[in-house]
Amino acid sequence: MITVKSQSELEVMALSGDVAASALGVAKEIIKEGVTTDYIDKKIKEHIIQRGGKPSFLGYRGFPKSSCISVNDEVIHGIPGDRVIVEGDIVSVDVGVLYKGFHSDNAATFAVGQVSREKKKLLEVTALALQEGISMAVEGMRIGDIGNAIQTFVESNGCSVVREFVGHGIGYELHEDPEVPNYGRPGRGQRLSKGMTIAIEPMINLGARHVDVIENDWTVVTRDGSPSAHFEMTVAITESKAVILTDWGKYI
Ligand code: MG
Repeated sequence: MITVKSQSELEVMALSGDVAASALGVAKEIIKEGVTTDYIDKKIKEHIIQRGGKPSFLGYRGFPKSSCISVNDEVIHGIPGDRVIVEGDIVSVDVGVLYKGFHSDNAATFAVGQVSREKKKLLEVTALALQEGISMAVEGMRIGDIGNAIQTFVESNGCSVVREFVGHGIGYELHEDPEVPNYGRPGRGQRLSKGMTIAIEPMINLGARHVDVIENDWTVVTRDGSPSAHFEMTVAITESKAVILTDWGKYI
């Protein structure tokens, strides 16, 4: 079901979103060679709780941690553990927060020290693809316009769009309708209306688009082993520009 939020609900969602965005700031500060993904997760969890929120992912369908941390060829749903970050890694951190009854969801991919030119390009393309998608998130546009903008930008830059996992409506629940694919045709799909809140989250591979889920039943990896990046924001639809509810730009 697609839900529409009132102005006062959107104000609470922005508070929730600020907790999620600032958690990415915490991640940025501590991600460096030698730390484990579990340590990053622990600091994120502490931060969310200290800000009065709850980690949306903890226990979600049995997920055991407070964030998803996906390294290099891991696309999404990496489970924090004893993996040690090394120079040259790219580390995607995805954080969801429940605060005063509202969920927010955001992600960013961080470069550790010097990364290859290809990885640097992938991060730039994915971050810009998110902006392309957000630019279409306006009342009267359609879900297909968002996906098409992302796909066109990504493919014209020689990267590929993961199809099996998509963005989503969000608010009262972590995952609400509609689905928000990162590919599609302009003018198709659900029409966007004022008060809808959606998470736009391009998952972009440097190589081919195909992915697999590994034996932990969570973590998604690229089939060809190429690196993958993930940037995400929760936004609210208005009659003009989308309102960014997880404004991590000021934290990372
Ligand atoms: Mg999401």
